[in-house]
Amino acid sequence: MTFPRHVGCRTPAGPQATGPYLACVIVAHMCRKVAARYLGRIVEQAPRELLFRTPRRPYTAALLSAIPLPDPVRERQRRRASLEGEPPDPASIPAGCRFHKRCPRASELCRREDPMLQEVAPGHQAACHHMLDA
Ligand code: SF4
Repeated sequence: MTFPRHVGCRTPAGPQATGPYLACVIVAHMCRKVAARYLGRIVEQAPRELLFRTPRRPYTAALLSAIPLPDPVRERQRRRASLEGEPPDPASIPAGCRFHKRCPRASELCRREDPMLQEVAPGHQAACHHMLDA
C-alpha cells in the first residue's frame, strides 16, 4: 500500500510529523487538523472532517481519493482522481502555482500567479485560483 507523501499531522502533544511513511489511516483517526503540502508548501489545511469531506484544492482531492476505503464494494465503485505527469524538480519549482503542470483545472492565471492561502470556511484555508465546490 502506498500513502500520499505530502500529508502532515500536528498532534496536540508533539511537533509536526510529516513524511512519506505517515499512514493516512493514522491521520484520519488521530489528527484534529490536517495539512496538505506540495513541494514544501502548505496548500490546504483544515480540521480533519472538513478536509476529508470537502477538499477545495484539486491536489488535496487527488491525495484523498488515493486512500483505500475499508468497504470492498464501495472501493470498487469509487472514481479516483488521477494526476498526470511527475512532480517537478524541487530545485526548479515552476512559476505560478507549483501544481499547474499536473492540475486538470490549470489556467493561464495558474501558470502566472502563485495562489495565496486564504480562508474558505472557518478553520479551512486553501490556496487555489479555481477551487472545487464545497
Ligand atoms: S491554482 Fe490552478 S493549477 Fe493550482 S491547484 Fe488551483 S486550479 Fe490547479
